[in-house]
Amino acid sequence: MCRSITGNGVRDTLRVLQRHIPLTVHEVPSGTPVFDWTVPNEWNIRDAYVKNAQGERVIDFRRSNLHVMSYSVPVHRTVSLEELKAHLHTLPAQPDWIPYRTSYYKEDWGFCLSHRQLSELREGEYEVCIDATLAPGHLTYGACYLPGASAAEVLVSAHICHPSLCNDNLSAVALATFLARELRPVRQRYSYRFLFAPGTIGAITWLCLHEADVSRVQHGLVLSCVGDAGHLSYKRSRRGNAEIDRAVHHVLQHSGQAHDVEDFSPYGYDERQFCSPGFDLPVGRLSRTPGGRFPEYHTSADNLDFVRPEALADSYATCRSVFDVLEGNQTYLNRNPKGEPQLGRRGLYGAIGGQAGERVEELALLWVLSLSDGSRSLLDIAERAQMRFDTIRAAADALMAQGLLAEVAVTSRGNASAPP
Ligand code: ZN
Repeated sequence: MCRSITGNGVRDTLRVLQRHIPLTVHEVPSGTPVFDWTVPNEWNIRDAYVKNAQGERVIDFRRSNLHVMSYSVPVHRTVSLEELKAHLHTLPAQPDWIPYRTSYYKEDWGFCLSHRQLSELREGEYEVCIDATLAPGHLTYGACYLPGASAAEVLVSAHICHPSLCNDNLSAVALATFLARELRPVRQRYSYRFLFAPGTIGAITWLCLHEADVSRVQHGLVLSCVGDAGHLSYKRSRRGNAEIDRAVHHVLQHSGQAHDVEDFSPYGYDERQFCSPGFDLPVGRLSRTPGGRFPEYHTSADNLDFVRPEALADSYATCRSVFDVLEGNQTYLNRNPKGEPQLGRRGLYGAIGGQAGERVEELALLWVLSLSDGSRSLLDIAERAQMRFDTIRAAADALMAQGLLAEVAVTSRGNASAPP
């Protein structure tokens, strides 16, 4: 499917996702002003080729949709090799790979090909044809909303504008789709919004059309490049210490695997838009090897072989663990704060039986009791105790079951107040 920032490739892709999740498709007319931008004309391509004097397709869109520079204006004429070369893009350092090029906001046409292919072109006349339309239409994006107990939202976003590239960003489109599919049957504490939109202009368009609702986003993740064999890499939100930043860091820290956590920078994917100062949303970015840092990036070598099932599965499991932290990160008040409560009498201590493997549980109970003064969340406690969040969460559940904790309402600004 020849995806771009607009056009039928995006619509066809969203239709595939609709087989898996309840996805609403939105169409925004070309020319719609969106903050400092304007929704562009819609681009659709049917065919493209370069033919030599013998009438052979020496560059053929039907072999790879990467052969045409995305958003190329239509062209059909005969040119010399010299003139053709001004419109050809190759990667001399990677002579077998086709580069991925775009020209969204400057009217131009071009072909991309392997450097080896270029070196085989002989002097002579060539027929170039790009059977495309660039005309008023729509920008298309998809959204899947899963209502939870609270209107507060977790936003998950993946860009959907790249043609036949796999890690960037079909891996994230697939991951987001399966996350939505698996979360859907169970009502969560948070509502979840999965956004599948073209990079930059799609995120800007969504933000512009939903400015009034954006404050509901409590946590967010931009997913990109989540299927390669590299280790997981998290880029913090612009805020740097948002709950999502801490939740992802916590999960990665306790994963037992190599990982990177880096600070926000105004370069990358749609975290740039969500974290722009006018919004400053708590949205981080989860990747494996980030875009631009692997040689296959934006080339035909970013294909199905480059993406590993086990890496995709690990990215999926990590997202689920992060959601578990967000869902379970509540704040409690110890209802028996004067001295330790007698755990043995409640079956919380006797069960431990002095076995080394289970002492962790006891320690978790003590940490939760000690720090649950209504001002610290379970994630705060997990960080302080240097224990896994799920261990702390299980301890809190056990204490709740014995009436030793009371839940504290926490406002969206993170200030706790005891229930009246
Ligand atoms: Zn890209």
